[in-house]
Amino acid sequence: MGETIIALADLRYAAAVPQVPLHAPAPTGLLADRLGRPLRDLRISVTDRCNFRCSYCMPKDVFDTQYKFLPHSSLLSFEEITRVARIFLAHGVGKLRLTGGEPLLRKNLEALVEQLAALRTGAGEALDITLTTNGSLLERKAQALRDAGLKRVTVSLDALDDTIFRRMNDVDFPVADVLRGIAAALRAGLAPLKVNMVVKRGTNDDQILPLARHVREHYGPDVVLRFIEYMDVGATNGWCMDEVLPSSQVLQRLGTAFALEPLAPAAAGETAQRWRYADGGGEIGLISSVTQAFCRDCNRARLSTEGKLFLCLFAHQGHDLRALLRGAQPDGQPWSDEQIAAAIGLIWAGRDDRYSELRGARQAPSGGAERRVEMHYIGG
Ligand code: SAM
Ligand code: SF4
Ligand code: SF4
Repeated sequence: MGETIIALADLRYAAAVPQVPLHAPAPTGLLADRLGRPLRDLRISVTDRCNFRCSYCMPKDVFDTQYKFLPHSSLLSFEEITRVARIFLAHGVGKLRLTGGEPLLRKNLEALVEQLAALRTGAGEALDITLTTNGSLLERKAQALRDAGLKRVTVSLDALDDTIFRRMNDVDFPVADVLRGIAAALRAGLAPLKVNMVVKRGTNDDQILPLARHVREHYGPDVVLRFIEYMDVGATNGWCMDEVLPSSQVLQRLGTAFALEPLAPAAAGETAQRWRYADGGGEIGLISSVTQAFCRDCNRARLSTEGKLFLCLFAHQGHDLRALLRGAQPDGQPWSDEQIAAAIGLIWAGRDDRYSELRGARQAPSGGAERRVEMHYIGG
């Protein structure tokens, strides 16, 4: 593993300033990209910093004390994030996910949740607001987040065994603290709660059954455990296919201990294939981004910590919305929400990203990993 680090181009600065069309119809919520996919889900990265150094995301030898994280002045303020979110809602987004880096490291995140929870969709409905966290600060923060209007939470948990967990987060963080965070989230009513396990063959695949048992026995149907195939995101994790355990094999292993039945998708564009325990013990999800790409229904956009819009997890370039939020028109007037909405409409209408599908067909864009943006920067 040691030799795999690639010199990395800093793609945080690769972003085009969006074009603002002179005349554009007001958003209808019916926007579609070039493959006919609507825009429904916005993932917002609130920090590029993290207190973990998971080797598949922020390997320690790259993200060390020398690494230059974004300065605070680059980050979108809570007001700017809320403004962008409001504009996206007009385009049909009904679901927001806060992510990072580790989102709970962003100071006073509850205040942002409160601002976002006050927004309404184009149809006047409350938003589905959720957050993905490594769980390290969840015990302290769960109740305040719930009080601020957070509905649900996803906790990443790659192992139940403390030694394996500490090795995977690479900062010696104990698994017991994350388990206490999950318990606090459930007590606060952040349910149903999802637990995400990234499976790396040879690293934590022996944790599939212990985690499944733990979730069934301790939480039951309130917690859905999802197994994620290890992905080739970013440029630094030294990904190789040998370390991917296909979801079909995860299912096989689960099948040695439990009877499972397939479930229909709960919503269009859902990333996980759902299965339920035949004895009513809850459900699990399989996220097969590598072996069974789901680009065809991908309705997700990602907003980076500093306000760049990315149309795909594997994008090479973002669209600099912050330039519009903070900049001005040639006559000195600030850009209006309607103008920014029109710019976003144009960007989405031109989208044809489907990296995972092309990877599966061995047609992924050349140029390679060194040109991909990092996961901790645009959020998972
Ligand atoms: N720090 C938070 C956390 O870990 O939950 C939020 C950000 S993290 C980038 C979001 C999700 O991406 C996590 O569930 C993480 O496990 C997943 N992730 C990161 N790198 C990945 C990779 N190479 N393959 C698959 N999933 C990955
Ligand atoms: Fe941090 Fe999450 Fe990335 Fe792990 S996966 S390094 S917790 S951002
Ligand atoms: Fe969506 Fe890109 Fe992932 Fe395909 S590869 S599902 S287009 S984010």
